[in-house]
Amino acid sequence: MVKQAIIAAGGLGSRFGDRTKEMPKGFIPIDGVPMVERSVQKLIASGVEEIIIGTGHCSEAYDELAKKYSVIKTVKNENYANTSSMGTIAVCAPFIKGDFFLLESDLLYDAVGLKVLANDERENVVLASGATHSDDEVYLENGSDGALCRATKDKASVKNLAGELVGISKLSKACLDEMMAWYKADADRIKADYESVLAEISSAAAFNAKVYVRKIEYYAWTEIDDEAMLKRAVEQIWPRVQENESLWNVRREVLLNPGPSTTTDSVKYAQVVADICPRELEFGNLMEEVAEGLTEVCANPKDYITVMFGCSGTGADEAMVSSCVPPNGKLLVVDNGSYGARLAKIASVYKIDMDVFKSSTYEPIDIAALEKQMQSKKYTTFAIVYHETTTGLLNDLATICPLAKKYGMTTICDIVSAYGGMPIDLGSLGIDFATSTSNKHIGGMAGVGFVVCKREELLKQKDWPMRNYYLNLYDQYKYFLETKQTRFTPPVQTFYALRQAIIETKVETVQKRFERFSACWEILVKALDEMGLKMLVDRKYQSRFITAILIPDTPKYSFNALHDWAKSFGFTIYPGKLGNIDTFRIANMGDIKPREMERFTKVLREYMESIGVASRRANA
Ligand SMILES: *Cc1c(COP(=O)(O)O)cnc(C)c1O
Repeated sequence: MVKQAIIAAGGLGSRFGDRTKEMPKGFIPIDGVPMVERSVQKLIASGVEEIIIGTGHCSEAYDELAKKYSVIKTVKNENYANTSSMGTIAVCAPFIKGDFFLLESDLLYDAVGLKVLANDERENVVLASGATHSDDEVYLENGSDGALCRATKDKASVKNLAGELVGISKLSKACLDEMMAWYKADADRIKADYESVLAEISSAAAFNAKVYVRKIEYYAWTEIDDEAMLKRAVEQIWPRVQENESLWNVRREVLLNPGPSTTTDSVKYAQVVADICPRELEFGNLMEEVAEGLTEVCANPKDYITVMFGCSGTGADEAMVSSCVPPNGKLLVVDNGSYGARLAKIASVYKIDMDVFKSSTYEPIDIAALEKQMQSKKYTTFAIVYHETTTGLLNDLATICPLAKKYGMTTICDIVSAYGGMPIDLGSLGIDFATSTSNKHIGGMAGVGFVVCKREELLKQKDWPMRNYYLNLYDQYKYFLETKQTRFTPPVQTFYALRQAIIETKVETVQKRFERFSACWEILVKALDEMGLKMLVDRKYQSRFITAILIPDTPKYSFNALHDWAKSFGFTIYPGKLGNIDTFRIANMGDIKPREMERFTKVLREYMESIGVASRRANA
């Protein structure tokens, strides 16, 4: 798996004249986005989690870009004026841990090139294309062993042409080490280009790394060295790149149901990987990184650890409830919606001694009454849902969970539909165990349920008799710790997608994600006000992740008709019945954009007008 990239961006870009005096070449925009930023986006979408940019001329511009993308690390080549690309790569080399992509900074390219390199079974591969007629070609020559032996601008001298250098490669750390050894061996080599270094080590007997050329004959790409190339890029190459990449677009369906949520195409495609036995160390490492990434979303990995199962969110709830109440312990469960009721139901199936604290499904919990119940000190364990997805009611865990601690209880929380959607810190909330799933705010595919556990609390379960088997938290934890394997077959492809979803969550940040969901919610609430539709929960107690809307008071309303109408525009909505209160629900989860919520509100308004609801107000 290619997890890192180096972008060599030390160059002066002097052929651009004035344009690049104040700005590195990579920042020249194509269709409004700087070339290098677009390249960063493509690398992230293909699963790269760290991008090291070797800078030089105008390095500040890259430092600014690094503030926008947390995956970027910049390293300055102080001697950029006297070195070439290899000098810039040299300053990046110490940060490389495994396979990486190496790119030039002034490239416009079709992202398929990254996929092709990632899927090539050879370790070191340089991407090439057929003839570009760009007037600045670097020709790659293969030796008799089929590996790269020369990179030159002199076409006439090439005997066995492998293609034209694109400026994107996939290399191993071992290859980079040999490149560095060659580069440092002689002070005369200070101005070497990386492509010549690759050709040198690939063809010299003294080195082990073989470098191969992978040619895509009609590859859409260009480097941009001067005004003429920029013009060609904008007029000829950019339209081809856009068309080619659009062929990969998956038809967009916006899920406004409360999970699974809309995913990005990059998360969908992350599942398409080579087959792998999940008992291979490589997959164990992937799961370990995913677990740590999941922990970091809501807790400090020093104190917390994530235990994962192949299951839905309810599976994680069942693992937590059935594992975390000590033998002879007693559970207090807050039930103010379907999910609280579900926690209680699970406990009853496992015959766990329990009291249920019932509370309104749409009004805040009476904390004094709850505390009174806690004071009886009968309970070892306290269970509550953070965000009641049934209604959109957000429970005040910042007040409630510390109370549970005050009365000596272990707190176990279903934070399934809050996790990843809003900043959460389990440590400061005083939560010991928390559940969520791969397919809600974190933005992955359904199939992984997990429990984020306070380590010292989890360790207490070591000698407890097992109430469960597949879902046993401590057993799953211990087995993974010892073997880097789950006890039973994990959902392999879901894990690859989850890894990508975590990268994208880090890039966006949970805070910004919360702001995006809030923006969508505000658009919805404003439209509901205009249509005269009422919400079940007072807005100040709402999570902003899901909105339960009371159905309009007319016999013409039909959920199915509204559903089908919305679906015909690519929006999926969800019903919600609470006792005798009838609602429909609109979620803000996953990869939803404010402009899509704008479009949805128009669709909703059209339906409401068609049954005579919204028009009354519009006409008034
Ligand atoms: C979605 C959700 C779950 C889990 O539902 P599954 O269908 O089992 O994935 C659990 N609790 C809450 C609060 C939820 O919103």
